[in-house]
Amino acid sequence: MSDTHPLVEAGTLIVGLTAIFALIALALIFIIEIALYFIPVEKEVTLFEDWLPDDLVTVSPNDDRLNQAQLLVDRLAFHWGDAPYEFRVEIDDSDVANAMALPGGLIVVTEGLLDQVESENELAFVLGHELGHFRNRDHLRALGRGIVLSMFFAVMMGNDESSLGIKVADLTLRGFSRKQESNADEFGLELVYTQYGHVNQAWRLFERWDDRDHSFLDFASYASTHPDSGDRVEDLAAFAQREGWPVVGTLTQLKW
Ligand SMILES: [Zn+2]
Repeated sequence: MSDTHPLVEAGTLIVGLTAIFALIALALIFIIEIALYFIPVEKEVTLFEDWLPDDLVTVSPNDDRLNQAQLLVDRLAFHWGDAPYEFRVEIDDSDVANAMALPGGLIVVTEGLLDQVESENELAFVLGHELGHFRNRDHLRALGRGIVLSMFFAVMMGNDESSLGIKVADLTLRGFSRKQESNADEFGLELVYTQYGHVNQAWRLFERWDDRDHSFLDFASYASTHPDSGDRVEDLAAFAQREGWPVVGTLTQLKW
């Protein structure tokens, strides 16, 4: 016989079980992150060759913006000499500005973001930043957590494996660390400099966003997964200055 009140025992049991489940979830996340680290890029590329997220609504394959964005990514990636990916661009039919790096070399930009870029130089930096995430394979780390957590909840709630589908909606909720973001920014800016010979207007989009109300919905999604526009502008300007990259130069207009 125990001297402890049954309610206290029940409480201890619940707290204990919750802690065990939380630990299992954490261990799974940790294991998958390590496993992903050891998946070679070639494997990732084969696995996700023709893959698209379940909820992606793409624009027409003849869309001018799609072709221009793909050409721009190709030109930028050319300066990343030994890039192991063949990058594919898709445009998500969403009004909310966002851009993301997805498995296998897929870059998704939203219509909302394309509506807001005012020069090719601005778009080039947004795309270059996503290329930076591929270089550091940040995109797989974010995916690892997503899959593990979906698996965990599917098991808990008795769902079938279709609930494991990877969706843009899930991925946009997961941000990267500040360090991952600033690494991607530096790589992206270097690509822009190599492409144009200057970094004029590369971060102009973020300056415009920073001037506006932070709750402004059009860029809330991009802002939730990327660094604060104000800090980012300062960091980018400082980085360009350290590298001695000109902040003046001829702008390239968008061709749509
Ligand atoms: Zn980023």
